[in-house]
Amino acid sequence: MAANVPYGEEQFANSRKEMDVLVEDSLKSIEVKPNAMFAVLSEATKAISGGLVRWSRESSLWPLQFGLACCAMELMDFGSARIDAERRGYLLFRATPRQCDVMIVAGWVTKSVIPELKRLYEQMAKPRYVIAYGECATCGGPWYESYNIIKGIDQVLPVDVYVVGCPPKPENLFGALMKLQKKVGGKVEV
Ligand code: SF4
Repeated sequence: MAANVPYGEEQFANSRKEMDVLVEDSLKSIEVKPNAMFAVLSEATKAISGGLVRWSRESSLWPLQFGLACCAMELMDFGSARIDAERRGYLLFRATPRQCDVMIVAGWVTKSVIPELKRLYEQMAKPRYVIAYGECATCGGPWYESYNIIKGIDQVLPVDVYVVGCPPKPENLFGALMKLQKKVGGKVEV
């Protein structure tokens, strides 16, 4: 009766062992290196997430809403329909520094206002950026030799982009924000 059974227990066990050997041999030929694989995956994830973070930052610049002198009038004009800054999302001015990452220094900076400016800057979200808007914020402007006005905001805060003019054109601020976007996105060194 046993001869009629196609596979006895012993034969079944042998075929199973043979199959295991075949699988082991085929896996050896692939030679997976787990550490190398995870290293590649980790690098790829870092590259993708780094690019994503840079893109998010450059595409969501939120300026702080404040002005210091007559350049602030030009800053208001920046919000007009003529400039249409909203087309690139530049009009998300916030009244609290905790929701901002861009400080646009518009006007001359007196020595008495420096502590307040520094405090606002410290309260802004990191990474944060500064734009010196106009001659006064860049170098003191017409009050270069004044006893109470500093020769540029870069004496107290790190400036990323300078905008020329007295008064500076709102169009130039538009260009400065585009330049800042490229810098934040790692596309140019400003
Ligand atoms: S740069 Fe000219 S327009 Fe701007 S704050 Fe100074 S004086 Fe006024």
